[in-house]
Amino acid sequence: MNLVLMGLPGAGKGTQAERIVEKYDIPHISTGDMFRAAIKGQTELGLKAKSYMDKGELVPDEVTIGIVRERLSQDDCKKGFLLDGFPRTVAQADALENILAELDRQLNFVINIDVDKNILMERLTGRRICKECGATYHLVFNPPAKDGVCDRCGGELYQRADDNQETVQTRLEVNMKQAQPLMDFYEEKGYLRHINGQQDIDKVFADIQELLGGLQ
Ligand SMILES: [Zn+2]
Repeated sequence: MNLVLMGLPGAGKGTQAERIVEKYDIPHISTGDMFRAAIKGQTELGLKAKSYMDKGELVPDEVTIGIVRERLSQDDCKKGFLLDGFPRTVAQADALENILAELDRQLNFVINIDVDKNILMERLTGRRICKECGATYHLVFNPPAKDGVCDRCGGELYQRADDNQETVQTRLEVNMKQAQPLMDFYEEKGYLRHINGQQDIDKVFADIQELLGGLQ
């Protein structure tokens, strides 16, 4: 079961990723975790990545791809994997095809969780966080009992600067622009599958299970 999971911020990718890896017992491979592991393990590529990150520079593709190659070659990926946050570009997607070919494997599906942009805006701007304990709420999906006050500790709730309308809109537009060529690439390869992310979480996961059911 070799999967890539895609979805815009707010589409519920993290939640579905957790459920997929638990149900199918495959490793969840996110770019962030991969970098942290490579740096912690002081691999040659990890140290290289760190040198760029320390300077506040983007890690070049060849380093990122090398780290992905190392990770996918590990034993726990033999039965499958769920890639999350990689690839981000067509160049990386091409490199992934090559890595998998070297390992004599190929992707089964690239799952995109589709959610309308206006709904993403509502989801992403509704988040409120407790100043005291960090508990998160949502004005629509998980509102506190009393406006602006944490149920758990009585702390004051605030909206992160990242969550305001303008910032969210820009972030979504950047992500959409980045995702489109990648989706076109995978559409052409025949891997792309769309899952309706505008349903409740359980139904979204049920649809994913239905898609993956044939693989096992
Ligand atoms: Zn609190």
